[in-house]
Amino acid sequence: MNVYDSGTILSDLSILGYKLTDNVKKADLVIINTCTIREKAEQKAFSFLGRMADLKNKKPGLMIAIGGCLAQQEAKNILKRVPFVDIVFGTNVLGRLPALIRQAEKTGETAIDVDMSGKSRSALTIHAKKTPITDYVTIMRGCDNYCTYCVVPYVRGRETSRLPEDVVNEIKIRVKKGMKEVTLLGQNVNSYGKKEGLSSFSELLAMANDIEGLQRIRFTTSHPKDLSLNLIHAFRDLEKLCNHIHLPIQSGSNKILKKMNRKYTREAYLEKIGSLRSVKPDIAITTDMIVGFPGEAESEFAETLDLMKTIEFDGLFAFAYSDRQLAPASSFNDKLEEGVKKERLLKLLDLQKEYTRRKNKAFINKIVTVLVEGPSKKNNSDKPNAISQDLQWTGRTPENKIVNFTLDRTDLSCNDHLLGKLINVRIEKALSNSLKGTPVTDIKGEITYAA
Ligand code: SF4
Repeated sequence: MNVYDSGTILSDLSILGYKLTDNVKKADLVIINTCTIREKAEQKAFSFLGRMADLKNKKPGLMIAIGGCLAQQEAKNILKRVPFVDIVFGTNVLGRLPALIRQAEKTGETAIDVDMSGKSRSALTIHAKKTPITDYVTIMRGCDNYCTYCVVPYVRGRETSRLPEDVVNEIKIRVKKGMKEVTLLGQNVNSYGKKEGLSSFSELLAMANDIEGLQRIRFTTSHPKDLSLNLIHAFRDLEKLCNHIHLPIQSGSNKILKKMNRKYTREAYLEKIGSLRSVKPDIAITTDMIVGFPGEAESEFAETLDLMKTIEFDGLFAFAYSDRQLAPASSFNDKLEEGVKKERLLKLLDLQKEYTRRKNKAFINKIVTVLVEGPSKKNNSDKPNAISQDLQWTGRTPENKIVNFTLDRTDLSCNDHLLGKLINVRIEKALSNSLKGTPVTDIKGEITYAA
């Protein structure tokens, strides 16, 4: 969500004449778009702001803006801790940022806007000339679920869906500007449109599927309680919908799920996984897990491990529980010791490593379809023009597996044309977080494209 918001900010500021720089020392305006979902993210934001003090001293004309969830939640505290900040803006006022910048420039005073009462912007004008091959489009904001460990409903507000025609138009504009794959974003995309009586999420996916030039569709994040049969069937019926779902479970224990206010049981989750696999036997399933939630007994943690053994996820984002101010669980009194949480986290990650390795290994010798995103990070360059040095390229399979592949030097002239193309790659090696392969060539030695 923050990546998408940062793109929106960039697009809006380009009309004020601002351009992106990758050297913070050269910047006239530094915008820190913060996250507060975990304690570490919050600490990182404050430590980055601390480093900015030095820069501001050396360059007094430098403007510093802080936005996102931390700014929404801690505006007063930010002003106290880092009084040199010029702009503080909340999660619902992105559209007003250009005006806030002008106001701070004009008055020399800190401009603050963390108002959540207004409707966040629904339609969006995209000013950027190009968009990445794979990009995000927000379909809704906020959340109504109030999981007890989470601050999102407090810092991003109540759930609001964008109009389907606005979403579709934005995807079309981005496709015209170069996007081939869209990830539809929301805190709980499965409940898209329900509150407002708009189209359902599966209907929105069908509309996106009809967009000419768009090659792939992904979405995140799904709430298991709202995963409908229609959405499950969309994996079978929509050819552009990728073969992957991220379905956060958070715990394998019904007692802990109840305390988390997740509103589903382990059995209901398993049933949905069964339905998904009956429709798409090879669908990649990833999840989120929180270990060491207040009151989690050893036996309840064992239930989480047992669930992992039953499902064998393709990937996992796991975290040790940490208190978030505003979230109800921060006042629960049966907190676990840090050591216990850490130990459980390591155990969980260790178990997952085995499944990820096994799942990745199953791709060896298979030919997969890869959407080419650009030179691999390993080349230390993200500029497609620097191709003469960039032999390693990267892309993803529909299952969201990263595939790195090497092109022969004789292919250099056509490398450029590969960006954004769906090519066939034979997988030769499975690493812990990625796959390695070689593009499949035809009889003339030319790279073959996926049908
Ligand atoms: S569904 Fe729960 S965890 Fe996800 S954003 Fe909403 S409150 Fe937070």
